[in-house]
Amino acid sequence: MNIKKLFFRNISGTNKKEQAEAEKLQAENTAKETAASQDLNNIPNGYYSQMEIEKLSPAANAAKRHEIKNYEGCLLGGAIGDALGWPIEFASLYSIKEKYGEKGIQDFVLKNGIAEITDDTQMTIFTADGLLKSAIKSFNDNEMPDIKEIHTSYKDWLATQEKGYSPSDKGWIANIETLYANRAPGGTCLGALASGKMGTIEEHINNSKGCGGVMRTAPAGLMYYKNPKIAFETGARCAAITHGHPGGYLPGGVQAAIIANLIQGKNLEEAVDNSVEILKTYEGNEDTTKLIAKAKELAKSDVDPEDAIKEIGEGWVGDEAIAIAVYCALKSPNNFEKSVLMAVNHNGDSDSTGAITGNIMGAYLGTENIPAKWKNSVELSTELIQLAEDLYKKPNEIENSDTRYKG
Ligand SMILES: [Mg+2]
Repeated sequence: MNIKKLFFRNISGTNKKEQAEAEKLQAENTAKETAASQDLNNIPNGYYSQMEIEKLSPAANAAKRHEIKNYEGCLLGGAIGDALGWPIEFASLYSIKEKYGEKGIQDFVLKNGIAEITDDTQMTIFTADGLLKSAIKSFNDNEMPDIKEIHTSYKDWLATQEKGYSPSDKGWIANIETLYANRAPGGTCLGALASGKMGTIEEHINNSKGCGGVMRTAPAGLMYYKNPKIAFETGARCAAITHGHPGGYLPGGVQAAIIANLIQGKNLEEAVDNSVEILKTYEGNEDTTKLIAKAKELAKSDVDPEDAIKEIGEGWVGDEAIAIAVYCALKSPNNFEKSVLMAVNHNGDSDSTGAITGNIMGAYLGTENIPAKWKNSVELSTELIQLAEDLYKKPNEIENSDTRYKG
């Protein structure tokens, strides 16, 4: 958290008196900042309630988060978590440590200088594409988008997995050649989309609880940040297109609602709690509700993160994946790097838990708190920044929207 920047943002004197006042204020703020950072440094390697952190460092959580840096942080953060987890997606913690050392993987594995993203980020991009295509036609913070648009965008993603690239008139996303890459896509997503049918909360397409639903719903939170209930419903319905078990689609709602709450300015704990309140109004929420409660409890305990994540699960299923992300975010709320590395170094589905955690932490801390070395080498970073800008704008402000988001 850039405390200095927050404190100093508006200090500029135009005459001597103002200058003197500014210097005095600056000196006071430097003292406050030093005290706050000393307090923050004294936080043990564990979870502090967000309220306590706020007390220690008021500026740290005073930031408004409906800012472009938080939108970019959300999408880039997810892609970075995804790329960090990709080389170890199918590896046990034992073999990760054997290969990368006692701390596990700590950095990107680059291919020609690029850290590859996987289906998690690809499908997140297509969720945003569908949401924007719906919003261009009609948008209201309090009304659901046309989920059929998202289904159509997911079918465009399916084409990236089944066919080689060829230019089309489906908008700019479907024309990103780099997206036509096969990175261990989930069988449930492929099968459900290939069926041509669209799953819904009322008419389940299958009984899959896989984490392929939750890993892609963050853009719903960015778009409907003013209304976490609509964000939840949208995220859950986006996931239900391919995943029919409540433990597969409800976590998609939780992820979107957490992001919406964070963008509104709530702290992490409040964002999780509000999202769980919404979750509890849905049928079949019990498993997800219980696991998130467990994640919160573990984050407050001094249980070692490796053991804590083992207790939650492996993240192959939706409820475990969102709970692991909640745990990693709450365990290291002020350090993107630490929470995302925690989220990938385990026995389970590292790229998906990394992606979900990265979305949350990037939205919370903003892009300036993500290490530059990762932002610079993650695949599709330019496109993700462009997409973040489009999600941030009001739909009628997006340039050339009629061709770029042609539904
Ligand atoms: Mg993946």
